[in-house]
Amino acid sequence: MTDGKLIVFEGINGCGKGTQLDLLHSYIRSSGKAIPIFTTGEPNYFDGNGRMAREMLDSEGNPYSNNLKAVEYFAENRRTHNNIFVPMLKKGIDVLSDRYWHSNFAFQNAQGISYADIAKANKGFRAPNLTFILDVPVNIAFERLRKRDGDNRRKFEGDFDFVNSVRNNYLELGSILPRLIKDKNIFVIDGNRSITDIFEKVKEIYSFF
Ligand code: ADP
Repeated sequence: MTDGKLIVFEGINGCGKGTQLDLLHSYIRSSGKAIPIFTTGEPNYFDGNGRMAREMLDSEGNPYSNNLKAVEYFAENRRTHNNIFVPMLKKGIDVLSDRYWHSNFAFQNAQGISYADIAKANKGFRAPNLTFILDVPVNIAFERLRKRDGDNRRKFEGDFDFVNSVRNNYLELGSILPRLIKDKNIFVIDGNRSITDIFEKVKEIYSFF
């Protein structure tokens, strides 16, 4: 049996990753594949570290603080996550994840941790087969989030400069991660288009994986 594929959707909050993940999920299901698909995301509640990471993101304060702690929580949460989904991949199940280690690289590097140190914390985890990074200007993402969530903002979502440096980090991961952590198949897609146009691109790229 061939292994399932780990497919990751990434980008700043409001880039449309959840929307595209759901569309790809429906698309794979409707293509008649009999085997289940596991849809998941990070950080998650599979262990206490995911909860700690979420609480850190939700709490008020300076987005630049807590960076080392964040790398630790996210990496431990990812270890638990790997223990759950890697056996599924081995059974041929595809895994679709809303965020993976790219978030760690983009956010925690913007908080001042080097890419090399973040790579060290992520050593040994499963590399994705395919990653979509949806790129949108920060003001567009903020506007979408305001529509989606009202004014209920997390601390990272209110700070334009911080989110902009996270966005710029995402844009360079495609050239950095293949060398650093053997993550080779990263595609940046212009997310500032209609949901349908973006999904056409997602399907096109997915079709040769
Ligand atoms: P994320 O999961 O990246 O935070 P979502 O997929 O939840 O983002 O999208 C954020 C909001 O923007 C949602 O209300 C969604 O319906 C909307 N949205 C998603 N993609 C687009 C798009 N291409 N154009 C306009 N609005 C979009």
